[in-house]
Amino acid sequence: MTKVPVRPEMEGFKPYSPGLSIDEIRKRYGLSRVIKMASNENPLGTSPVVQARLNGTSPLAFRYAQAGSPALSEALGAHLGVPSACVVAGNGSDEIIDLLLRVVARPGVDNVVAFKPCFSIYDVQSRLCGVEFRQAPLNEDFSFPFESLLSLTDDNTALVFVTNPDNPSGHACKAAELVELAAKLPSRALLVVDEAYIDFAEPLEEYSMLRHFGRVPNLVILRTFSKMYGLAGLRLGYGVMPEWLADLLLRVKLPFSVNILAEQAGLAALEDDIFVAETLRVVREGREALTRGLTALGCTVWPSQANFLMFDPPMDARALFEELLRRGVIIRPLASYGMPGKLRVSIGNEDENREFLEKTAEVLRDNHRHS
Ligand SMILES: *Cc1c(COP(=O)(O)O)cnc(C)c1O
Repeated sequence: MTKVPVRPEMEGFKPYSPGLSIDEIRKRYGLSRVIKMASNENPLGTSPVVQARLNGTSPLAFRYAQAGSPALSEALGAHLGVPSACVVAGNGSDEIIDLLLRVVARPGVDNVVAFKPCFSIYDVQSRLCGVEFRQAPLNEDFSFPFESLLSLTDDNTALVFVTNPDNPSGHACKAAELVELAAKLPSRALLVVDEAYIDFAEPLEEYSMLRHFGRVPNLVILRTFSKMYGLAGLRLGYGVMPEWLADLLLRVKLPFSVNILAEQAGLAALEDDIFVAETLRVVREGREALTRGLTALGCTVWPSQANFLMFDPPMDARALFEELLRRGVIIRPLASYGMPGKLRVSIGNEDENREFLEKTAEVLRDNHRHS
């Protein structure tokens, strides 16, 4: 069958650009060992407590989960100190982003506002919804220019996305600044604070919007199990939002998008304080070690409150990225974020961090010799 007419939004539609996978690079270069520091996954892998729960739950894979994951909303509400009716779990926080856009933003009428560069799912899903996506460039030091963000909003602004700590820079602002921003938005605009990396910011109380929830009426907070809780492949995230909005999302959400294994894994992960504490220690130590190491190699490294670092290498960034791939180290080029001169590396475990620094030093040395 030849092509039939499709929605005009599909014309030249550019997909999300994900990090490369270990298998891809093993095959491409015939390597036996490949390390991946490209997608901000947990350097400790999957928690043993969660693995045990997954094993115990696997006989239930034939059952449908309970629609809307009420047990998980209940546990999350208790864990976070918010009403469970305000918590919506999804197939990653990506699903909550998609649902918010589809429920709140009117196609062809409304607009969505964010910084530039930003996490590209906001842009991709807005375009699919036929909603205008507006962006205010970040300050030169990657801090947030709230006034220029505000200047892009109007009475048709449905959602304003702020990622805090930010991806890909690692910059974070204090929650007090976001409370102020929320108050200045046009009355119908919702402020969506994407806290995918909030667990890595310190001190947490000064950065997270959670304790302001309930007092800021137009606030939505997004969280994920993909980073701190090490469950990126299982797909589990959630939004904390006003009850009326949670109710609408739950009405249109595909009923079983959070599968029965993901739900049980999430419940186990919430009780796994040891894994969280250990992840935090490894990420903090690794972040310092990588910052020191990269700086010593002549890279400019941006301060980060997340589990990754953005840096500017003293050679062509694309070439360094490719040379690291050939040596079995996957990091993230930021050309798809509009920054071809910069790279992002996720904090790995001690061995991965050492290997990444050694191989980066090797490439920089070779490059220097040949230029
Ligand atoms: C990783 C990430 C997410 C989480 O996505 P999931 O769908 O939960 O895996 C959300 N927002 C940002 C900015 C991220 O970097």
